[in-house]
Amino acid sequence: MPDRRTVLAAGAALATAALAPGRALAAASASGTAETADVIVVGAGLAGLEAALVLAEAGARVLVLEGRERAGGRLWTLDDVPGRPEAGGNGIGSGYARLVDRARSLGLALVDVRERTEFTADSTVIGLRGELIPLARWESHPLNPYSGEMRARPPWSVSFSALRPFNPLPEAAAWRDPAMAVHDRPVAALLLEKGWSADSLRLGFATNPSYANSAHDMSALMWFHIFRNAELMSAAGPGAFAIAGGNQRLPDAMARALGEKVRFGTVVRRIEADDRGVTLLAEDGRSFRAGQVIVTLPASALRLVSFSPALPPLQQEGIDLLPYNRVFQAHFVPRRRFWEEDGLPPSMWTDTLAGRFVALRYGPDRREVTSLVAFVSGFQADRLDRMEPAAATAAILADLARLRPATRGALRPLRTLSWARDPLAGGAYACWAPGQIARFASALPKAAGRIHFAGEHTAEVARGMEGAMESGQRAALEILTA
Ligand SMILES: Cc1cc2nc3c(=O)[nH]c(=O)nc-3n(C[C@H](O)[C@H](O)[C@H](O)COP(=O)(O)OP(=O)(O)OC[C@H]3O[C@@H](n4cnc5c(N)ncnc54)[C@H](O)[C@@H]3O)c2cc1C
Repeated sequence: MPDRRTVLAAGAALATAALAPGRALAAASASGTAETADVIVVGAGLAGLEAALVLAEAGARVLVLEGRERAGGRLWTLDDVPGRPEAGGNGIGSGYARLVDRARSLGLALVDVRERTEFTADSTVIGLRGELIPLARWESHPLNPYSGEMRARPPWSVSFSALRPFNPLPEAAAWRDPAMAVHDRPVAALLLEKGWSADSLRLGFATNPSYANSAHDMSALMWFHIFRNAELMSAAGPGAFAIAGGNQRLPDAMARALGEKVRFGTVVRRIEADDRGVTLLAEDGRSFRAGQVIVTLPASALRLVSFSPALPPLQQEGIDLLPYNRVFQAHFVPRRRFWEEDGLPPSMWTDTLAGRFVALRYGPDRREVTSLVAFVSGFQADRLDRMEPAAATAAILADLARLRPATRGALRPLRTLSWARDPLAGGAYACWAPGQIARFASALPKAAGRIHFAGEHTAEVARGMEGAMESGQRAALEILTA
């Protein structure tokens, strides 16, 4: 995968030739009603903004169509919550080279945020089956279903340590290698073979899961890719970083650099390609036309867009079926320091509707809790997603009060959000089910004529925010070198 500088060098050399058809098209349709550009990028998340910037830097006339009234997509800093917590893309690793490079070029600073959440081993209490269990008592507790050295681990770290020893991938990019397809099977199948019990699978993979709903519906191969990617993403040293002032400052600055080229409030519903170009139809009836298009929507939002001619069957199957993680969040500020009343740490890892209940310390004073979030995933998020926000908040507060009486009346609700119920996201991030990587992971990023695809789920090496950046650069380069 070329880095951004290689992309730019290639782009500058090739831009004139590659974009010529787009310019002709723009001139030809100048008298029509459609707004035109050489390249239209759909989506102003990191992938779309990065693709648009690379193309604009290479001299292309670019237009970005974004459904929301803000940039960033699944990266979203809650500026209206004290401490400005991140609702989406959060930790930036030292190896996020493209993202860091882009941030620096836009004059943004990175800050080390390793210590700002309190969700760590010694500062979180476990809440299971109505019982509060301090971490010091976990290893010998009867609800601990693990054996060996796994007993000593906090239950939230089990999924990350369980599969690591069996990783067959020589490098991160190998996850799509057909030779690895044999590992594209349920995590449960692998761990049952290794002697895991149903109870240990349920606690480790179906309670506040980082991916999917259980060990049965996620691919072991995806986890192997996660591990190799994590090694790369921390290649320049340990640590978690954030953009100073909130990650949102990055897409905001990227969109500002593109200026007039970003059209917010433009939900694309149909994409029609012909011999001379591509027409995009927006929900509100406006149309746009370009020589080339880059679509950066997650598969979960792309399902709502129709294509003419139809996409290749395998690619459409991937768009239709790739699952996305459910994440529901309820944000609170403390009315009282309930943790000083019962002497336990404020953060909890629970099997209730409160999920991972995390005390955030995002202010200048690391001892101060700025807000608390019930970060809920898996089955519990599914339950909350079926409720109205006020009912979901009430259900979370009731569960918390039952588990931990000191929280009763101590939390002021600020806001809730659901990534799965947001039609422009359709979930938090791609979560490959068993068999899906082998079947369509390589089909999803493939260009269909003049239509190119980017977005986190199409990245070859990286994942998350850096994956989005990687995919945006790759799609831009595809056009510049066409
Ligand atoms: C809760 C959560 C935690 C995360 N934590 C991390 C983390 O710690 N580290 C990490 O690296 N990554 C993390 N991620 C993942 C990371 O945020 C995403 O992978 C990345 O931001 C995806 O960028 P993207 O450009 O591919 O997609 P998106 O950001 O989804 O961009 C797509 C854009 O398309 C727009 N859109 C959708 N449909 C249409 C339409 N029909 N017409 C026009 N526009 C449309 C959307 O509004 C959006 O702006 C997290 C994500 C979530 C939700």
